[in-house]
Amino acid sequence: MGRFAPSPSGDLHVGSLYTAAASYLDARANGGRWLVRMEDLDRPRVVAGSAAGILGTLELFGFEWDGPIVEQSKRAESYAGALDALRSRGLTFDCSCSRSWLADEERYPGSCREHPLVAAVPTATRLRVDPGPIMFADRIQGMFRQDVAAAVGDIVLKRRDGLIAYVLAVVTDDAAQDVTDVVRGADLLDNTPRQIYLQRLLGFGAPRYAHVPLLTEAGGKKLAKSARSVRLNAQAALPQLVEVFALLGLSPGSELLHASLPEAWRWAIRRWDIHRVPKRMALQLTA
Ligand code: GLU
Repeated sequence: MGRFAPSPSGDLHVGSLYTAAASYLDARANGGRWLVRMEDLDRPRVVAGSAAGILGTLELFGFEWDGPIVEQSKRAESYAGALDALRSRGLTFDCSCSRSWLADEERYPGSCREHPLVAAVPTATRLRVDPGPIMFADRIQGMFRQDVAAAVGDIVLKRRDGLIAYVLAVVTDDAAQDVTDVVRGADLLDNTPRQIYLQRLLGFGAPRYAHVPLLTEAGGKKLAKSARSVRLNAQAALPQLVEVFALLGLSPGSELLHASLPEAWRWAIRRWDIHRVPKRMALQLTA
């Protein structure tokens, strides 16, 4: 079971098309199902109409998802249940440190873990993270190892403004949806060890992970803010899809540009081999 989990904070761009195509091809080539989950938890960042826009674009590009679209905004009870399970085992603590107070810290210094607060102020909930390495074999990037306690410290599970943190939501959802294969952008590679740490505490099975390179502009600039990434042109879905197939290492020939969209997908599914995806954290688009 694979999944694509966009945040509805804007339109789908070529970088997200790349990630979506990788997870779709990986699921379909392995005879698996493919889900779409709207990660609309971070309310302040949600852009009205964006979720519908993303689904419309996916459809026009020929993606076919299985089952209903799960929206994180409707899953508060599940996240609260997971948080309570951790809290009742004494694995969490309240933290009143503000973002600005922590701004210069590379990792959480443990202030509220060691000195529980007394005053009634808005608090975040943090997980007590024990030292020790977390290791996993990423299917594209290879072995990855991180000591979460040393790298980030006690992670936030619920923010001071009451929002559930991404890490808790994603782990709860991947488990609830029986996701076996997470294929997503390399920006989340170093977030994965803390997800695995949390999965182990919650007794969830760990999916396999594959992190595809992040696409950047030709000069290496971030895509999301550049003109190129603003909007995909669904009227010209095929050439953009063929470009994405090329960047996934599938070496499409120019004759694919004359195929229909379903034919192009069938070709790519037959051809898919995750070992062909460039083993890099970033990949520049050709100008
Ligand atoms: N919602 C995240 C994003 O759009 C992706 C999370 C994931 O794939 O685990 O960056």
